[in-house]
Amino acid sequence: MIIDGKKIAREINAKTRQQVAALKAHQLTPGIAVIVVGDDPASQIYTRTKHRLAQKLGIASTRYHFPADVDQATVLQQVRKLNRDDSVDAILVQAPLPAQLNGEEIVNAIDPAKDADGLHPLNLGRLYAKQGGHYPVACTPRGIMTLLKQYQVPLAGANVVIVGRSLLVGKPLLALLNNQNATVTFVGRHTKKRATLTRQADILIVAAGVPGLVKAGDVKAGAVVIDVGINRLPSGKLVGDVDFAGVASLARLITPVPGGVGPLTVAMLMRQTVELAEWRRERVASLVG
Ligand code: NAD
Repeated sequence: MIIDGKKIAREINAKTRQQVAALKAHQLTPGIAVIVVGDDPASQIYTRTKHRLAQKLGIASTRYHFPADVDQATVLQQVRKLNRDDSVDAILVQAPLPAQLNGEEIVNAIDPAKDADGLHPLNLGRLYAKQGGHYPVACTPRGIMTLLKQYQVPLAGANVVIVGRSLLVGKPLLALLNNQNATVTFVGRHTKKRATLTRQADILIVAAGVPGLVKAGDVKAGAVVIDVGINRLPSGKLVGDVDFAGVASLARLITPVPGGVGPLTVAMLMRQTVELAEWRRERVASLVG
């Protein structure tokens, strides 16, 4: 069965729209600020998609576009300004950043309470420590967890293999799945006997950014296959990291590209923006009260 990411995203967006309306009834408009550097075509598309969805849902959205040769101090200054801006609840710095910028320092400068993508080490640490309370979590992994839940995929005791261990996708996913008692294995470029490992996966999640990396021979029959990759071929076609034609007939469930994980990522970003707004106001109210 092919997972319908667009349908789940529509349901999430409908709820987010209601949450936004409820906040607006109290004269509160959630706001997201996106910083994008340079003219990477994929980044332009992603930030435009985020901006349009925010507007559609009633979220105030502002994009800050810097030239590719911008210096570190200018970006840091913008982040700090947004940290102090009361109309901004969520700050996102779109990856990738040009080589002259120190992405780590920029992410660390974001107020953890406005960290739209949950990439601040404080938030990642909370996730790994399985702490209670409110904190943001990376949107793509959150979207994947939602999708697994919607399709009632059992996690406790499941063998999960994640290909790719970025801070944006693989690492937060490891913590989220592990916190649900799944047995999680990372497969990277240096992993030996990769196919032996991936063929043991009940749930195989691929986030490497390599088109066609996972083929039918790498997948167990009946597995759930989540393809996070978004790759544009020279022909202009968008494909994932999984050879969809070869794997679809083997898998019990599989996400298409496009239309799988992508729409959920943006939907979760909007939901998280609204949550950050709600949590910030709750904190302010408790301080004042
Ligand atoms: P990244 O480049 O930061 O990380 C990729 C990871 O895959 C790294 O850990 C790298 O070591 C590993 N890797 C690379 N080649 C490999 C190989 N041959 N075998 C095993 N591991 C390998 O990328 P990212 O930001 O995590 O994104 C990964 C892919 O997912 C990209 O195609 C990106 O466009 C896509 N993406 C999609 C969404 C979405 O919403 N669907 C969100 C984020 C990223």
